[in-house]
Amino acid sequence: MQAAILTIGDELTCGYRLDTNSQAISRRLSLIPVEVVLHLTVGDDLETIRSGLRVVQDAADVIVVTGGLGPTEDDLTRQAIAAHFGLELVEDAEALARIQERFARFGRKMPPELLTGNRIQAQVPAGSTIIYNDRGTASGFYLPVNEKHIFVTPGIPSEMEGMLEGFILPRLQDLVGDGRHVRRAALKVYGLPESGINERIRPMLARDRNPLLGLLPHRGTITIEVVATGSTPQEAEALVEADVAALRSTLGRYLISEDGRDLPQVVADLLSERGMTIATAELG
Ligand code: AMP
Ligand code: MG
Repeated sequence: MQAAILTIGDELTCGYRLDTNSQAISRRLSLIPVEVVLHLTVGDDLETIRSGLRVVQDAADVIVVTGGLGPTEDDLTRQAIAAHFGLELVEDAEALARIQERFARFGRKMPPELLTGNRIQAQVPAGSTIIYNDRGTASGFYLPVNEKHIFVTPGIPSEMEGMLEGFILPRLQDLVGDGRHVRRAALKVYGLPESGINERIRPMLARDRNPLLGLLPHRGTITIEVVATGSTPQEAEALVEADVAALRSTLGRYLISEDGRDLPQVVADLLSERGMTIATAELG
């Protein structure tokens, strides 16, 4: 199963904020496994959001949208999705009660001028299942439409994560079924450039292979990510272990860690084995 992620917000397109939601969602989805094939970011403009929806809809069956669910003028995600699929926006009584309860809990009356705004936060396109928000006022929603599964959450990372863990991941797990299990390992390599690694392990880097390997360079260290899929957890684990063993023997002394430690930590640990201590910050 494949997914595409659409993040919405002017603060993202103008470079004021980094889109961390796509990264967080992709990492969690890959473990199900759902393969994320596209990240797309658009600003807070109704027509641009609609063209973004066309692109993600063409790319995948699972679509995760974040951002633009707030109460203000520039929050247009609900309206754009409803318009795109030709659906009405309908108010959910419980979502509205929850917003009112939240205002009461924090000792605030729903301001009359915000009433319309906050009411929109309790609206979802007809046919959606609402995703309640325990961490804020904007509810999210799940819309199964045209054989697509569309999940929509607020942009605030903690609220997005609450809905991802509590609603989206369990749903996707059900959709994918129990027959596929993912295990992964991350090996760090130092002293070989990407091309050098490529040369040594070329056949293992084939894109249609299981495990699937990825090279992630960061500050002179290259992480090799090994992701195996199996019909049982044991099968996936065995595939990872076989690749790790092969990488160990091919990369030899260039392999500096198999447990996520970076170069400064590896050096600090070696020094401490020899009775010396050093703050890792001095090495970083
Ligand atoms: P919104 O749900 O669009 O009102 O977004 C509220 C706030 O969440 C924004 O002002 C950003 O600070 C943050 N935010 C929105 N989208 C993202 C994203 N994709 N990644 C990280 N932070 C985000
Ligand atoms: Mg926004």
